[in-house]
Amino acid sequence: MTDTTPDAAPRATTFTTRSPATGEPLAEHPVDGPEEVARAVARARRAQEGWAALPAARRRERLLRWKRLLARELGTVARTVAEETGKPAGDAGLEVVLTLEHLGWAARNADRVLRRRRVRTGLFTVHQRASLVHRPLGVVGVIGPWNYPCYTPMGSVGYALAAGNAVVLKPSELTPATGLLLAALFDEAVPAHAGLFTAVTGAAATGEALVRSGVDKLAFTGSPGTARKVMAVCAETLTPFLAECGGKDAVIVTADADLDAAADAIVWGAFGNAGQTCAGVERVYAVREVHEALCERVVRRAGVLRPGAGGDAHYGPMTLPGQLETVERHVTEAVSSGARALLGGPESVRAPYVAPVVLTGAPADSAAMTEETFGPVVAVDAVADVDEAVARANDSRYALGAAVFCGSRRTGAAIAARLHAGAVSVNSVLGFAAVPALPFGGSRDSGFGRIHGAEGLRAFTAVQSTTVQRFAPPIALTSFEVPAAARERAVRLARSLHLRH
Ligand code: NAD
Repeated sequence: MTDTTPDAAPRATTFTTRSPATGEPLAEHPVDGPEEVARAVARARRAQEGWAALPAARRRERLLRWKRLLARELGTVARTVAEETGKPAGDAGLEVVLTLEHLGWAARNADRVLRRRRVRTGLFTVHQRASLVHRPLGVVGVIGPWNYPCYTPMGSVGYALAAGNAVVLKPSELTPATGLLLAALFDEAVPAHAGLFTAVTGAAATGEALVRSGVDKLAFTGSPGTARKVMAVCAETLTPFLAECGGKDAVIVTADADLDAAADAIVWGAFGNAGQTCAGVERVYAVREVHEALCERVVRRAGVLRPGAGGDAHYGPMTLPGQLETVERHVTEAVSSGARALLGGPESVRAPYVAPVVLTGAPADSAAMTEETFGPVVAVDAVADVDEAVARANDSRYALGAAVFCGSRRTGAAIAARLHAGAVSVNSVLGFAAVPALPFGGSRDSGFGRIHGAEGLRAFTAVQSTTVQRFAPPIALTSFEVPAAARERAVRLARSLHLRH
């Protein structure tokens, strides 16, 4: 039917990506609609059967072949990531290296984690052999963000494939070329499984088409607001959903911490990738006796950082132009409500770049302390003691990552255990993200479910429990032919045993 309303615009069939640094066009990509997405999911479903039927060793060998190709093409992948996000080439290279670490771990460990294992039976089930196995779900839909367009979606893609699934990825509309390149390299390395891993491109409508396409699980990484919308659509079909969302990560610094090491890590965690890191450092709580010395060290280190596009820049532009407004609002509101800017201030926002901002004394209920800023801004506050630091770190709607800097590793670990966070690093920041065996994910507005590690493999499986009867049971309880008196005797016996143990 033709739409005759005067302002009806034809559906866009392509979209253009632009360099965040210069605004120059980078590439034109198709806007995939429900038909294209459905085709990708149908192909993935056909390819998955052959993939799941392969012996585990063959899947591992093929995934490792893909990993080696990614390593060979590291320069190309990193260049694509850098072009689309604006981050320095070195940071993009590090992102690809972390991706390789995870893909290798997932490929090598999938069989060990997921294969069938026996479990013990009970008194009334000694005649059974019981086991469980983690089976692939089928087709997994992955929706990714733009800030780490290789590492982040691959935390779902690599693990889902290793668990025997097919994957359809919808990369962020800011970084489609990275997603397409990952899929193209998979096809090149593993040509026998065409369609097993594909990427569809477009913005929210394409993402929604993927959510509605009948995938067997949807792994989402992005903001909590979008996660709510996607989860609501998943609810219509009871599609399982995994949400990796934002953070407002806190760092605690104790009186005996190595302040130079803490400042160095805080500055890297807060300003690396222009602060556009889900588990980046946004809040620091330092005990009063070291607060000033820590601030001085943080400001000294941050003061020499230069955002820019050249090879000597420490970090790049804000990838999402709209984020500049959020950063400016957080800093302006904080300063006008009593915070002191120790470095920079509202004037640090000079599109498309934001120079480093260090705040102290922002009100606990200000946006700079409660909302994800996602920019190169860090608030360093003084607290009376570790108890107050823990209370303030935990007083957040986010619970993703955290860090503790402490002279004693044992005390640091004890403080870490009191934090509401999915992952905590002691005497480093983001240490957990580079250990593939460690699960990653949060709670509250940071989402739920885990990627990475054994949990990240199991996340893309359904467990199947099996019993195999080895011999007729000594006391048959599941038969109408058993006299009622025998059943009553069995119940009395069980009761007396449970009373004793
Ligand atoms: P976003 O929520 O704007 O978009 C994420 C993805 O969802 C994009 O691909 C987008 O096209 C898609 N999308 C948007 N609306 C949709 C809809 N209605 N239905 C289906 N898909 C839809 O997030 P973003 O700006 O791309 O990413 C930044 C956010 O991601 C930050 O909050 C950051 O903290 C978070 N993040 C979290 C992790 C983690 O692992 N926890 C990692 C990286 C980024």
